[in-house]
Amino acid sequence: MKKPLGKVYLVGAGPGDPGLITRKGWRLLKEADLIIYDHLVNLSLLAAVRQEAKTVNVGKQVGKKILEQQEINELLIREAKGGRMVVRLKGGDPFLFGRGGEEAQALAGKGIPFEVVPGVTSAIAAPAYAGIPVTHRGLASSLAVVTGHEDPGKGAAAVNMGAIARSVDTVVCLMGVGRMDTLVEEMLLSGKSPETPVAIVERGTHPHQKVVEGTLSTILVEAGKAGVRPPAVIVVGAVVKLRSITAWFEYLPLAGKTIVVTREQGQAFAFADSLEQAGARVILFPTIEITPPKSFREIDRVLSKLKEYHYIVFTSANGVKAFLSRLQMLKRDIRCLAGITLAALGAVTAEALRSCGLYPKIVPPVFTSGGLVAALKQEEMRGKKVLLFRSQIAGDLLPRRLKRMGAEVEEVSGYIIRNPRPNPAGLKQLLKKGAVDLITFTSPSTFTNFVSLMGGEPIAELLGGTRVAAIGPVTKKEIRGAGIKVAITAPSHTVAGLLDAIAAYYRAPKP
Ligand code: SAH
Repeated sequence: MKKPLGKVYLVGAGPGDPGLITRKGWRLLKEADLIIYDHLVNLSLLAAVRQEAKTVNVGKQVGKKILEQQEINELLIREAKGGRMVVRLKGGDPFLFGRGGEEAQALAGKGIPFEVVPGVTSAIAAPAYAGIPVTHRGLASSLAVVTGHEDPGKGAAAVNMGAIARSVDTVVCLMGVGRMDTLVEEMLLSGKSPETPVAIVERGTHPHQKVVEGTLSTILVEAGKAGVRPPAVIVVGAVVKLRSITAWFEYLPLAGKTIVVTREQGQAFAFADSLEQAGARVILFPTIEITPPKSFREIDRVLSKLKEYHYIVFTSANGVKAFLSRLQMLKRDIRCLAGITLAALGAVTAEALRSCGLYPKIVPPVFTSGGLVAALKQEEMRGKKVLLFRSQIAGDLLPRRLKRMGAEVEEVSGYIIRNPRPNPAGLKQLLKKGAVDLITFTSPSTFTNFVSLMGGEPIAELLGGTRVAAIGPVTKKEIRGAGIKVAITAPSHTVAGLLDAIAAYYRAPKP
């Protein structure tokens, strides 16, 4: 039997900021079997794809195309014929200088079903993130989007720059960095005033967006001084002047800051996303990996006799997640926890329980094992059965103290904490250059693992040009113990608190 045809979705990824993909595009990305993407696509979007999905980069790599357009068309057709759901993910909008039209044509020609999902184009978004509205009542009523890189096959002058410059108020030029001198010359020859404002927006909407301003007479010199490189859009017209009033992106609290996140990958995304929303550029360097245990035997054993326990103690949100997902896997009703007193170490742990409708009675105000011991001392623990659901590397202070209070303690490793092996060379180089503004540690072990991953480098020296942030006093103590100053400490011991503390630190005037 012939396989049913798949379908190809030509999806606009937006100009860089991953938040600018459409809801429809995002949904398709999460459902696709195969994602074929270009070099301008923000790779963090690919974190959304299904585990079984395949991703293929067909963009340029170091100036060289990996696949020719014809080969891309053939790949799309072949995969759809194989019955797969393909997302062809393209920078900005797929039909604006994205060769999406050619791909749609090729698909239509072979009778392959396809849909187009428009995207936020860099032609409008890059100026917008530079505070430049491309039209404005009284200043610009027309807009032309042109390519600066003409297809040599088309012969000379597919873009009649003279006519455009004379009749259109705002001109946005894509792929124009390499031929900017010609562009400027043609505009001046067409009679545009040398005083016409110009802005170049490089890597628009990315945390390291760069904006260079000038006029038609000065912009070439300014661009040379600033070392402008693609991808960049060039905006020409009176609207550029509005930037002095309406610039906003560079005023975000963490604009221009490079921040390293050492958290476990799965937990790092939300934290990284919040930092990026505040304008920072984030480098993920996970120093911890969390995996399920090799065998569920021990866990299943305690889960099968839950009613024997008077207390269950969770010391991290990971433990809560592991516990509840195993219960669900075993199709055990949540009411099997009825009557058991729950204790949570830390606000995040407590929140993880509450989000599932489980309200821990004991949440010590001090987020340490000592704090938990003090809180449990308020209870009558003699003769009580306590289940500690923790990781395999948890300390023995808690069980020892509980036993001393007369409790019967059972421990189980609900999840495994491991040291991942990220390649530290790139990060080391950035740290040594002083190119990292801030490094964040969200537990003492993120720091100790970081030190061991740096393989014997003198840590105080390595972090000499970088500020350090700690999620709370315990983590701070660990870092200080290595002779390193901690500039930012969250008082609340939570990621939200750490975000606030970081924002407050950079908002405060520096001495
Ligand atoms: N379809 C894309 C454009 C593809 S052509 C879109 O709608 O945005 C590639 C050109 O787009 C680049 O040479 C550059 O001029 C522009 N571009 C893409 N992303 C950009 C970004 N983040 N900042 C500035 N220009 C960008």
